[in-house]
Amino acid sequence: PAVGSVALQVRLARKEFGGLVAVNDMEFVVHAGEILGLIGPNGAGKSTMFNLVTGVLPLTSGQILFQGERIDTLPSREIVRRGIGRTFQHVRLLPTMSVLENVAIGAHLRGSAGVAASILRTDRKEEQRLLFDAARQLDRVGLAHLAQEEAGSLALGQQRILEIARALCCDPTLLLLDEPAAGLRYQEKLALADLLRTLKAEGLSILLVEHDMDFVMNLTDRLVVMEFGTRIAEGLPSEVQNNPAVLEAYLGG
Ligand code: ADP
Ligand code: MG
Repeated sequence: PAVGSVALQVRLARKEFGGLVAVNDMEFVVHAGEILGLIGPNGAGKSTMFNLVTGVLPLTSGQILFQGERIDTLPSREIVRRGIGRTFQHVRLLPTMSVLENVAIGAHLRGSAGVAASILRTDRKEEQRLLFDAARQLDRVGLAHLAQEEAGSLALGQQRILEIARALCCDPTLLLLDEPAAGLRYQEKLALADLLRTLKAEGLSILLVEHDMDFVMNLTDRLVVMEFGTRIAEGLPSEVQNNPAVLEAYLGG
């Protein structure tokens, strides 16, 4: 993509749950090839924002554009097909199935109705294609040697990277990661950060929700800060770090 081009544009995105405004007219862009951090206290609306971008939840109002086209009216499956991959805040693996199967099945399930429906719709040829792509993504993230292990036997850091491999199936150009470093050991965080830098170098755009400030500050190109559904700050990590409104949001007032 051209330098400075926009991958994702969020325009006045709003999400109400009954009387609660979880996302309050949010506006931001993810530039092609950047790592944009989306930070803010618990309950700020970050995961809801991911659900809006990926079509898991409908907007109350506003628009979301990907590569210049509106996606907020599309079903999840179509949004995945256009090139947006994601992980979830809580690990979602089938612990007794193999690492390879988790990547293949997870990729197939994304955005679809359920396990039974998707298995019934999968023929041999499709299964081979999924397994081939899954193996390729495991290789890409450095987990090829664990392909036949049970997913539940992996360390948490490896499970998180496995989920990234699953999100990479279908070769997205934008990756949304919801707290990928949560609960990881120091060395696991370093490995994760290395992987994200490699993916960025391959040209991916990344939208990263993360609480670990060292991780965020070392990795992101820019930051958007949310509180109570609203964007309260935006800028370079070094700028945002010293923003009084951000300090207030984190330290409580
Ligand atoms: P964050 O990821 O920043 O911690 P969330 O997006 O999970 O925040 O939540 C934002 C707010 O929306 C919270 O007050 C949460 O309780 C509420 N919320 C999230 N999802 C739903 C839902 N499906 N129904 C009702 N309220 C929700
Ligand atoms: Mg969340």
